[in-house]
Amino acid sequence: MSFSHSSLRILNHPLIQHKLSCMRCHDTDKFTFRRLLKEIALLMGYEITRQFPTYSQEIQTPIATMQASFAREEAIVVVPILRAGIGMSEGLMELFPLALEGHIGLYRDVKTHRPVEYLVKLPDPGERIFVLVDPMIATGHSAAYSVDVLLKKGVQKEKIIFLALVAAPEGLSAFFEQHPDIPLYTASVDDHLTDQAYITPGLGDAGDRLFGTE
Ligand code: URA
Repeated sequence: MSFSHSSLRILNHPLIQHKLSCMRCHDTDKFTFRRLLKEIALLMGYEITRQFPTYSQEIQTPIATMQASFAREEAIVVVPILRAGIGMSEGLMELFPLALEGHIGLYRDVKTHRPVEYLVKLPDPGERIFVLVDPMIATGHSAAYSVDVLLKKGVQKEKIIFLALVAAPEGLSAFFEQHPDIPLYTASVDDHLTDQAYITPGLGDAGDRLFGTE
């Protein structure tokens, strides 16, 4: 199934695709899986920060003074959706270490597949840019719910972006139905969801593969 939407951005850089393919392999061990997810997040972070705020400040090089450009790292808040989102936020926090970090803890009810909230810890929104991260957009319910959480906390709609690794068309449909203006970046739109709400071909349960649980 193919999917397009004006707010959907596919990050198809060859290195991202290469690392994603390695992650998909059944035999890839936990440590490699974790390292690859972090590396992909670094590469994605590079792509999504093109329009991020900068400021200019006078510095002294060994040769002369100059007005140098700096990224406004502290204007960024990285918000992993627990628990698999942690695997991506580690990469982003390495890229902009002065960014703030929030957490949204959701689990999926096994019967309804709907998100149930168990933790929300977020910094003061101010004018900050919030980057929600979750590797898998399956039903799209958790992703849409997390955006609702940010909006309720007073984050401006224009300051939210979503970063995923793999998405199902069904999940993207559900997400954009509720939040058509939120930019969502992903490395792949896969074929479909199974009856058990797994992405096909996907990469299995990202949380289990990251943390070695079943
Ligand atoms: N979450 C996962 O980790 N994998 C899926 O395929 C769907 C949801």
